[in-house]
Amino acid sequence: MDAGGGTPMLIVCTELVVVEAELVGGLLGCPSCRGVLGPWGHARERVLRCRTGNRLLRPRRARCRGCAGTHVLLPQMAFSRRQDEVAVIGEAIEANVAGEGFRPIAARLGACPETVRGWLRRFAGRAEEIRAHFTRCAVVLDPELGAVLPAGSDVADALEAIAVAARAWVLRFGPGDPWRIASVLSGGVLLATRASAYSWAT
Ligand SMILES: [Zn+2]
Repeated sequence: MDAGGGTPMLIVCTELVVVEAELVGGLLGCPSCRGVLGPWGHARERVLRCRTGNRLLRPRRARCRGCAGTHVLLPQMAFSRRQDEVAVIGEAIEANVAGEGFRPIAARLGACPETVRGWLRRFAGRAEEIRAHFTRCAVVLDPELGAVLPAGSDVADALEAIAVAARAWVLRFGPGDPWRIASVLSGGVLLATRASAYSWAT
């Protein structure tokens, strides 16, 4: 995974103290070369908005003993809010591609209609970029993958590419929620009105 500035990033799904133990114990592998990561100071602090309020996060930085690349270790917690957001946006997009308008979708999801309309417009406006990105992801995950067939419209094609990439991920790594997988694979393209999803990981 690329972190915008070219620094690969690891998402570490355990508590910070476990991360520290794994890092010091040489148990974390480099995402670039599979070498062993060692401690390398800390990345800059950032505010993480959680449902329970703001938390100040000071992520660990690690350096690879093999390729000397540095990586920021983010707990999965740092992604959970964004992933929830992507799952809700994903549901709205699926409903819209299936023919439902933004107002009924908003009512069902308990979201502001203008917000939902904004998500759908953003998705439609980036449909080709999204389709291309997720098709690339799918091919990387499953080199045997055949052609992704046209689904009838730009947004349907983009949605199909996300589904194909998520299926390829599941085949390779095991079960997972498709939109959460899409979030991990998105590289910022799904939520690009903010800065890139990963720009703050550098
Ligand atoms: Zn390395």
